[in-house]
Amino acid sequence: MAKVSKAELKKKASLVNRRLTKEHPDAHCALDFENPLQLLVATILSAQCTDERVNKVTKELFKEFKTPEDYLNKPHKKLEEMVNSTGFFRMKAKNIRGAMRAIVEQHDSEVPKTMEELHALPGVGRKTANVVLGNGFGIPGLPVDTHVTRLCNKLGLTKDKDAVKIEYQLNDLLRKEHWTMFSLRLIFHGRRVCKARKPDCENCCLSDICSFPG
Ligand code: SF4
Repeated sequence: MAKVSKAELKKKASLVNRRLTKEHPDAHCALDFENPLQLLVATILSAQCTDERVNKVTKELFKEFKTPEDYLNKPHKKLEEMVNSTGFFRMKAKNIRGAMRAIVEQHDSEVPKTMEELHALPGVGRKTANVVLGNGFGIPGLPVDTHVTRLCNKLGLTKDKDAVKIEYQLNDLLRKEHWTMFSLRLIFHGRRVCKARKPDCENCCLSDICSFPG
């Protein structure tokens, strides 16, 4: 296959973004939250779990745990019990507690606003940090999950499977102000149309520019 130039990839990424903007005007972060702290906790819980399940859990959790200090002062067993149904609950509860400790001790009890500081919190990878930056603070961030990875490979925007490499490649193709919404639109398209097991190519607004339909 002929090598595609950076300029062509940029053009394609912009076209995909425009089409998905039209197709999914309602694209948004599907996790319920009222502040960056809640979003951070919800995103840690969302690993290997549906957003619907996380929202059910956090609805009750956030009534009990409101501040970073609550996660340190209230019984850890209580936290584990409340997040149990999201799976991998011991690890998630440990990471949440570790992140809250770092927030209290190193950031004056405020969720930090930089990739470097967020990524340094226990259990917080680049994807989680980008979710918090983009959706919690309105600071451009491009979370790469399985939908973003799958769609970008199908659309020929990347040949990589590594989330961090894909993030940097997409950062290079799109203007910063589009990063967060581009990721959310791809996620919506992956959930609604380009499903992993059965992509609905016949009804896909990207079928004419998809490199690997089906
Ligand atoms: S054409 Fe098919 S494979 Fe390509 S993005 Fe659309 S649904 Fe996915």
